[in-house]
Amino acid sequence: MSFYETMARLEQLPYGTLWSRYTAEDVKRALRAEQVDEEGLMALLSPAAEPYLEEMAHKAHRLTRTHFGHVMQLFTPMYLADFCVNHCTYCSFSSIYDFPRKKLTLEEVAREAETIAATGLRHILILTGESRRDSPAGYVRDCVNVLRRYFSSVSIEVNPLSTAEYAELREAGVDGLTLYQEVYHQETYRALHVKGPKRVYRNRLDAPERGCQAGFRSVNIGALLGMYEWRQEALATALHARYLQDKYPECEIGLSIPRFRPYLGEFNPASDVTDRALVQIILAYRLFLPRSGISLSTREPAALRDHLVQLGITKMSAGVSTEVGGHSLEGGTPQFEISDNRSVAEIAEMLRSQGLQPVFKDWDILSEPLGLR
Ligand code: SF4
Repeated sequence: MSFYETMARLEQLPYGTLWSRYTAEDVKRALRAEQVDEEGLMALLSPAAEPYLEEMAHKAHRLTRTHFGHVMQLFTPMYLADFCVNHCTYCSFSSIYDFPRKKLTLEEVAREAETIAATGLRHILILTGESRRDSPAGYVRDCVNVLRRYFSSVSIEVNPLSTAEYAELREAGVDGLTLYQEVYHQETYRALHVKGPKRVYRNRLDAPERGCQAGFRSVNIGALLGMYEWRQEALATALHARYLQDKYPECEIGLSIPRFRPYLGEFNPASDVTDRALVQIILAYRLFLPRSGISLSTREPAALRDHLVQLGITKMSAGVSTEVGGHSLEGGTPQFEISDNRSVAEIAEMLRSQGLQPVFKDWDILSEPLGLR
């Protein structure tokens, strides 16, 4: 049994009429529920919930403070390589674009790490384009060996790996895995992923579960919002998270809510996800999964991020560059445009002004990183 079976069931739901079936009564029932079930989740994602966003926000805020306190975990992504063998229609790193590709040497990784660590951040998410040839698991492991000198937590966002490869990276000191399905709707997934191994839907869908089996402390999933009808994508994402949470209670399952952003190409997404829709998704996630972390990236503009920090978000990126070596080298190609360019210090200040405590270092794996001793 994998989440693929649940996806097969979800794809049979009568979406043409499904969302309009839910009433105000269904939404109120979900709001009262101790634990929101699948039906309640659908009610919270439906148009019937739109007049109840305020009430949902109150409950989401309360649940977040109960389970996470008044803190906000900060992290930043670090791009190691932009070589990619896939053609995804929405990404600058797609193999069809001709620009000078980069891959950091271990010396450059150290320089980049030093620059980021100087901001105070101790949690980092390392990313590569998806190419087993150019950035294999062994390269990622070598980079992790360098990064452990500077950071107490290193997570990865790389091409889907086998359970054994994930276990090897966990041994090297990686504690978290982020892997977005991008699009849960299979037909759209096939259409948007034109070329390369990423076309194999199921390999990607099962990868977060392989991460849980390999023993990562945290696994973070998400849909790239805008690629397909958002209610359906949010439903699949939330059910995927609960599936993993129920089956692997020792692993922290988190959610991300990335919205499509401009990039090198000209693809325009099929579904517009308004700010209001984004808020509804965050609130539905929080009510359905009270203990799950929810991450907010710099894809969103500063003013909106400032509002969302009170509604269920527990983790934010700060001081972001989506270029390889973008913190210490010049002239890379960004994977996509970001909206919130504020520094780590500025984000920390904004959080404090809202009564929240920015957390730069939440935890350590038992052996301390050398540079922090
Ligand atoms: S989304 Fe990932 S796999 Fe697709 S082109 Fe970009 S880097 Fe490559």
